Amino acid sequence: MTTPRADRMPKEAAMYPSPQNHPAYLWWQGRQVAWDEATVHVTSLGWTGISAVFEGIRAYWNAEQQRLHVFAIDAHLKRLAQSMKLVRMTSPYSSDEIKQAAIKLLRDNELQEDSYIFPLAYFPSGIPGYLAVYEQPGEVMMTTRPRESSMLTGRALHCNISSWRRISDNTMPPRAKMTTNYQNSRFVSTEASINGYDTAIILNDQGKVAESPYACVFIVRDGVAYTPPVTAGVLESITRDIVMQILQEELGVPCRERDVDRTEMYIADEAFLCGTFAEITPIASVDRYTLGSGSAGPITSRLEQLFHDVVRGRDDRYSELRTIV
Ligand SMILES: *Cc1c(COP(=O)(O)O)cnc(C)c1O
Repeated sequence: MTTPRADRMPKEAAMYPSPQNHPAYLWWQGRQVAWDEATVHVTSLGWTGISAVFEGIRAYWNAEQQRLHVFAIDAHLKRLAQSMKLVRMTSPYSSDEIKQAAIKLLRDNELQEDSYIFPLAYFPSGIPGYLAVYEQPGEVMMTTRPRESSMLTGRALHCNISSWRRISDNTMPPRAKMTTNYQNSRFVSTEASINGYDTAIILNDQGKVAESPYACVFIVRDGVAYTPPVTAGVLESITRDIVMQILQEELGVPCRERDVDRTEMYIADEAFLCGTFAEITPIASVDRYTLGSGSAGPITSRLEQLFHDVVRGRDDRYSELRTIV
């Protein structure tokens, strides 16, 4: 058997730091430290992953202006604080301290390209997973690294409907951006990949569309955009909020939050994923039902272009969401 998507592994892996290729600095324990000095003992592996919460934030390089624009960092740090609250972790650092540290890190790592900021908050003492935690302080580690945008490359994903169900609010709340939630995502991604798909759509406990393993979902039917509500077992995506606003206020596309059925995905005129990592990713097919022409539909294309211009600081709108480094 050939390894599914074997072509994808080296490209993806190249984006992660290696001993030969890593940023000069990261931020840890409240200060900027040299990459090689940020080490822990091997025995701390394991339980520190339980309850760990994180954020993924993008910064876009504007070549004309020769500067980086960090997108929606305040919203991301607010959600990091909410995720920490849900797992009953207190923060030794304010959101503003983390924000200033991120900006300094981007500057000191001399990033002059599209980049990704990854703050991770965890219980440093490695409290066993079966023991209670209540209002205990977490520790925060943060990296910045190059991460090219995939927008306007003409890509469109082939998706299946996963046989796995989305975790739900009363089991493993998807609302918290917890690393442990990603085991659900990994089951879904692995199944999709083995079966020859790019990624998958996950149904929730009620059998309605929730989201993909790493991004929220929109469909377009007869000129109206639909996305599952935040109570459908989705992560409360910041991109999803901005997309709803852009669709309605800039593109004049009505947008409704309501349950979406699996078969609506099959007959939708267009569909796309959205999220910080996914940006705007058109969907080409679902369970091999081709959507529209099998590439980005007209509304998705207009959205992707405008979203691209907004995040990169080429369009003046939404300037309050961009932090210049
Ligand atoms: C982070 C994430 C998203 C997208 O959220 P954004 O705030 O738009 O980055 C969607 N789904 C899951 C499961 C996520 O972890």
